[in-house]
Amino acid sequence: MTKKLGENTFTDEDQASNVNEPFHTVDIAGIAIHSANAGIWIVDTETKDFLPSKRTKELFGYLPEEEMSLEDAISQIAEKHRGAVLKAMNSAFKKRGNLYIECPVVGYNDHQQRWLNVTGGFSESDASDTYFSGIVMDITVQKQNDLRRSKFIGMVSHELKTPLTALKAYVQMLNNWAKKQKDSFTIGALSKVDKQVKKMLNMINSLLNLSGAESGKIHLNKQEFMLNVLIGEVIEETLFLTSSHKIIMVPCEMIKVNADREKIEQVLVNLLSNAAKYSDNTSPIEIRCLRTEENVEVSIRDEGLGIIKEDIEKLFLPNYRVESKETEKITGFGIGLYLCSEIILRHEGKIWVESEFGKGSTFKFSLPLN
Ligand code: ADP
Repeated sequence: MTKKLGENTFTDEDQASNVNEPFHTVDIAGIAIHSANAGIWIVDTETKDFLPSKRTKELFGYLPEEEMSLEDAISQIAEKHRGAVLKAMNSAFKKRGNLYIECPVVGYNDHQQRWLNVTGGFSESDASDTYFSGIVMDITVQKQNDLRRSKFIGMVSHELKTPLTALKAYVQMLNNWAKKQKDSFTIGALSKVDKQVKKMLNMINSLLNLSGAESGKIHLNKQEFMLNVLIGEVIEETLFLTSSHKIIMVPCEMIKVNADREKIEQVLVNLLSNAAKYSDNTSPIEIRCLRTEENVEVSIRDEGLGIIKEDIEKLFLPNYRVESKETEKITGFGIGLYLCSEIILRHEGKIWVESEFGKGSTFKFSLPLN
């Protein structure tokens, strides 16, 4: 690809160069791009000169002979996603990192909505290289299937939740009755049933939120509440479910937040149960709350497995689980952290982790106070 940026032409032949040549001289990347029906693009990160291939233009709804600048392409991205895409792109340009985004666009001429997957990076690590190039692919069908799957998950979880909620209420009634009878055997057995029902309800709530998050519908029912009181309740609940850990809450002042109490509770349940799940049964877990002028920051520290740097970057993606000898026996769906991040981002907060492999992890999130 020796074209000068700014010519704004890029033929399909450029994309799949040498397709008809004998195999040993064939440009394998070109063939792959051609077979995947992907578009390619290059941008000069300094001048913002943009060179899209024909297929890239087509995916953004432009005709092959029409000019399409980087700005034109960005303005076809659905408004709700545009800010996040710009942020990811600028950060990749600035930090010389890789770009991976999925976003819906509305075609310039055909007004068709398509989901695109855009990936890219610098070809040279050296800072003098200002050409950032990548590929773009149509993932509309895959997205529609994902949406159908998450609607199905949402429906099934909703149906499962109703009888479980009734079961929980009957367990409570029976427990009151057993206490009156001073029947310690029944009280003990009911406590075990209650524990399992709560675990199942937590899982179903995660699946329900997953279905909401995937269809872009996490609705927040904001209300004012005391965050430290909620943390206290979640600690009690976690102790009930995973009794052996020592959970320490470092005393903090009363902090009133305006947020969705149930969803923040779910974030805390996920982070605390992960801290317990991925650390030794007897090791301590510490929760802190810190109030700054504009935010409140909650941190949950464990002395467990810890996480390597390569995994940290992917931890908040849906269905991502660390694959190692240590984690293979620990069960999970890999959706907890993804949901935590979706919930916190919907509150315009931040979530991140600091970790050292073999020593432990500290998961932190912040919420704006106003
Ligand atoms: P799940 O626990 O169901 O697999 P999560 O989304 O909650 O899914 O977590 C994703 C992955 O992150 C986990 O599979 C685990 O490997 C890693 N992880 C999460 N929390 C911790 C922690 N406190 N310590 C070490 N690893 C963790």
